[in-house]
Amino acid sequence: MLVYKFGGASIKDASAIKEMVKIVNQCDDNLIIVVSAMGKTTNRLENIARLWFNGKDIETPLNELIDYHQNIISDLFEQNVPDNLNSIYESLWEKLRSTPSLDFNYEYDQIVSIGELLSTKIIASYFNILNTKAHYIDIREVIRTDRNFKQAGVIWNLTKRFALERFTFENYKIYLTQGFIAASTNNQTTTLGREGSDYSAALLASACNAKKLVVWKDVPGIMNADPAWMSDAQKIDALSYQEAIELTYYGAKVIHPKTIKPLQERGIPLIVNSFIEPQKKGSFIGNVDDSKSTLPVYIRKQNQVLISIRPKTPEFLAETDISHIFKLLSDMHISVQLAQMSAASFTICIDQIEYMFDPFIAELQEHYHVKFNDNAEIITIRNYNNESLGKVLKNNDVLIEQKTRKTAQIVRFMEN
Ligand code: ASP
Ligand code: MG
Repeated sequence: MLVYKFGGASIKDASAIKEMVKIVNQCDDNLIIVVSAMGKTTNRLENIARLWFNGKDIETPLNELIDYHQNIISDLFEQNVPDNLNSIYESLWEKLRSTPSLDFNYEYDQIVSIGELLSTKIIASYFNILNTKAHYIDIREVIRTDRNFKQAGVIWNLTKRFALERFTFENYKIYLTQGFIAASTNNQTTTLGREGSDYSAALLASACNAKKLVVWKDVPGIMNADPAWMSDAQKIDALSYQEAIELTYYGAKVIHPKTIKPLQERGIPLIVNSFIEPQKKGSFIGNVDDSKSTLPVYIRKQNQVLISIRPKTPEFLAETDISHIFKLLSDMHISVQLAQMSAASFTICIDQIEYMFDPFIAELQEHYHVKFNDNAEIITIRNYNNESLGKVLKNNDVLIEQKTRKTAQIVRFMEN
């Protein structure tokens, strides 16, 4: 069997969904289709969740979200909208009429997960009226997690068992299910982190021992830079699992960082294909030797906060201070993107995380002198050389520069 994953862009309107059906029809193997929310739905729901949590008016963004889906429904079904699609917004309405609890991350998951429920219900109904029959599975009955809402950790043995029980291919050749969302063992909806559908697809591929996982994207494959940033970006034809992990670690957005490991463990290849030109060869990630590759790969991680920490007394920071700082970071689930020690201070770069940043800084300030700048970005170049460094540096101020044999990293202020 194979697993196909379609991201938001590849199901963003009725014509994209029709293209997706064509791609599915060309597959002769047993298939699990994993889809995310349509277009920019997750961003919209994030916005709604935030407004609602803060007691603000949500009418306009809610109407936009519903209109967007209704347009797709009427384009797909014209006059014959199936009955079950008439009630798809009910759980969202019900949620938004209730009073939020104090736990933003919990509420976030309850609201944001609705994007994937909407997309899969609409697409399942559309498959239903075609000759392509796809069996709908609510993935919350399969992927089980802890209760770390918004970034839930997967409980692998349960997930694997439920996946093998549900995706049997006895009565169906094609299954359709959600990426990104899951459920805790006490049946509360959780999510796996933004862009997490790739990870969901990899979990299912691994559990069911798929021949391969194909991720359909609006780019020709994995590029050596974001084409919106560098117009001469090139496709990378083949990548080792290890190199793919490195790239996602540094912030490459093509695939979710957690996607590779479950695949690597079972030697399942990951193919990144263009849904715009499905017949073209995309990128292959698997057991390949790319250790001699010289193609520079550019990764830009924006919205970083550069924090510099100094002791309050005129002394150096001691190891106990560093360990205290890392303990705080780990307690707050904040990961460090880059760190640098000097005689005078300890500097770290972290992602800007809402509701997390202020308490973290406040806690730090109790013990240290803290300065921060929240307008930074980290540029990473794998296989760097003078030319590739020059291309990135131009005349920007470099705040930090770190190099190893293969990798150069630069922290600078974000370009506007
Ligand atoms: N819809 C989710 C998001 O946009 C998950 C995904 O697309 O992978 O983050
Ligand atoms: Mg998405």
